Amino acid sequence: MDNIREAFCPRCGGAGGEGRDGLCGRCRLAETRWFECEPRAVHTYCPSCGAQKSGQIWTDSEQERAEIGPGLALSAVRLHPEVRRPQFSVAIREVSANRSMADVEVSGTLYDEPISDRCTVELVWQKEQCNRCNRIAGSYYEGFVQVRATDRRLTDREIEAATRIAHETEATLQAEGDRLSYVSDLQETKDGLDIIVGSQTIGLAISQAITQRLGGRYSTHPKLVGEKAGRPIYRITYLVRLHAFVRGDVIEAGGADLEVASTEGDHVRAVDLATGRTRTIRDEEPKRLIGHGSAATEALVAYIDDGMLGLIDPVTSAAVEVPRPSWLTVEAGGQVRVLRDRDRLVVLG
Ligand SMILES: [Zn+2]
Ligand SMILES: [Zn+2]
Repeated sequence: MDNIREAFCPRCGGAGGEGRDGLCGRCRLAETRWFECEPRAVHTYCPSCGAQKSGQIWTDSEQERAEIGPGLALSAVRLHPEVRRPQFSVAIREVSANRSMADVEVSGTLYDEPISDRCTVELVWQKEQCNRCNRIAGSYYEGFVQVRATDRRLTDREIEAATRIAHETEATLQAEGDRLSYVSDLQETKDGLDIIVGSQTIGLAISQAITQRLGGRYSTHPKLVGEKAGRPIYRITYLVRLHAFVRGDVIEAGGADLEVASTEGDHVRAVDLATGRTRTIRDEEPKRLIGHGSAATEALVAYIDDGMLGLIDPVTSAAVEVPRPSWLTVEAGGQVRVLRDRDRLVVLG
């Protein structure tokens, strides 16, 4: 008896379905609300930078309105989870600068019955200044990175490198979604370079990247600037102190002449001009600047004799003898690059 009853739809008497209630597909469909459509969908974006807001979260985006429209329209549509092979078509008409109308058509199958429906969604394009543009417009910042050198000015190369590092760090952090880690300004001062930053994260990251690539050290100096919701607000100065010496400087340390190859955390790597070997000179070792390699001049090698070079001083034309660097290949009549140090000449190569 059961088998016979289940074979018929209790609602219409037609062939029964497999559901709990035995209804046929058409009768189940008739009592199922499978399509819902909100009349409006709002897209909030920043008119200055194009960032998009979803909930309370801002995300950077390059998408144009035409690309956003269809997805925005479909965000207003809800389908019953058992709808199979849904197909959508969206046609958008621009109405005004901040309004579009989207005609949405949906088709598919539900309980093996073909279905289709349509609705119109009003798309609202809402402008709102994003949190980053808002902060930049209000000159908000959380810290600045002061790049300075020890006992000298920054070189142009160092200013360029630090500027590039600041922009690269900003690009990396922004790409990772840290939108508030921005560089709001770069100022060249007579002492060096000031980099004004939107977050402590980027201040620290720039300081670390600069000392990693240009050498030197950094220190952090927080300053209490106020209170917000009972929590103290700090602004942090990151003081980046580059080495007294730069690559290419020729220095004297412990009686040896050296050419600086690189500057790192608490030491410099330098080539000993007598042996050609690279050495590490720690910051605390006393050293003295002779000059920069770019200021070297050429001197004629008059003769080579028993570990000595006879040079013609390019300024005085006098003959001077200097120790022959063991690594140097030169013949009499050739030229070597020299740097003057008081009354002697230092051979660079
Ligand atoms: Zn039925
Ligand atoms: Zn913005």
